[in-house]
Amino acid sequence: MNNTMETTGLKDLRSLTSTEMQILAENLGQKKYRGRQLFSWVHKGTISFREMSDLPEVFISSLFDSYTIGRPSLIRHQKSKDGTEKFLFGLGDGNAVESVLMRYKYGNTVCVSSQAGCRMGCAFCASGINGLARNLTAGEIVSQVLEIELATGERVSRIVVMGTGEPFDNYDNLLKFINIIHDPLGKNISMRNITVSTCGLVPKILKFADDLPETGLAVSLHAPNDELRRKIMPVAKSYSLDQLIPACREYAKKTSRRITFEYALIAGVNDGDKELKELAQLLRGMLCHVNIISLNEVNETGLKSAGRRRAEEFKDYLNEHGVPATVRRSLGQDISGACGQLRLETGANS
Ligand code: SAH
Repeated sequence: MNNTMETTGLKDLRSLTSTEMQILAENLGQKKYRGRQLFSWVHKGTISFREMSDLPEVFISSLFDSYTIGRPSLIRHQKSKDGTEKFLFGLGDGNAVESVLMRYKYGNTVCVSSQAGCRMGCAFCASGINGLARNLTAGEIVSQVLEIELATGERVSRIVVMGTGEPFDNYDNLLKFINIIHDPLGKNISMRNITVSTCGLVPKILKFADDLPETGLAVSLHAPNDELRRKIMPVAKSYSLDQLIPACREYAKKTSRRITFEYALIAGVNDGDKELKELAQLLRGMLCHVNIISLNEVNETGLKSAGRRRAEEFKDYLNEHGVPATVRRSLGQDISGACGQLRLETGANS
């Protein structure tokens, strides 16, 4: 049951698009629509071939030889007092990833991880502390959604790719994941209900505007000038604001979608009046929205939150200067499930 590609040599059906399953069916001597039926079973959360009652025996037994439904194990499941739940999933090769279920009035949102670890090295974030272990397969990202539905018995209606990892550093698998989870034969999650967050890999922002123009995009900004941004986000050494901001404008123009800029307030680092003025200036006139986040403190970084009051001041100033801004509600803090707190299992969360 817990077999995955890595350990068994079997291919994970959760990694295949419906088109790939139709080709697979044909290759095994079946009609195309059998592939569509198979896709529907997999994304209903079916975990055993035996339950696939409308598929011919011969198709199922031919699948058996080379394919599996790759399930991660559930290593740990924590519940916050605000209703948020955090899941630590074990992958076939010994790596682990975290996912978070958030309950809102309008439905359940799952925050998925895109990589085991991360190589972006942002100064304030827990996910990069041990570097990158590896990219997740599309199936391993899909599994986070399916397994949370199986564990809770509740439907997931929105997805944010804001867990561990830099999604644009695992671009092909990210795209495949979104196409699978959006497929009307499966979970049918609308593109508009999926948001991807990037630390700012400029070429991929432009490519994403072409590939998936209806999906939401959030960009982690956290500093209004290059000097400061380079200090806290190494990616800024590769892509300056002179490149990032025009790419975001281009994205907004191409997609007519409002980009969300994330700005986590770090006491004494990016929370001054100078930075606030620069931020308003930088984003003026752009189709965007700023999400002010109260930094979630991560012990190892030594960085401190600037506090809720300062976050409100930032929000008010930006709004008064024509840049729409809100303060993000931080869910799951008591289970280290909030932004920037997800990490590979190191014992630090126990
Ligand atoms: N790599 C992607 C997505 C992962 S993090 C990215 O950088 O956008 C999701 C969001 O949480 C990002 O905006 C990230 O900068 C932010 N974040 C990271 N550490 C944080 C912390 N300690 N407190 C608050 N937000 C944090």
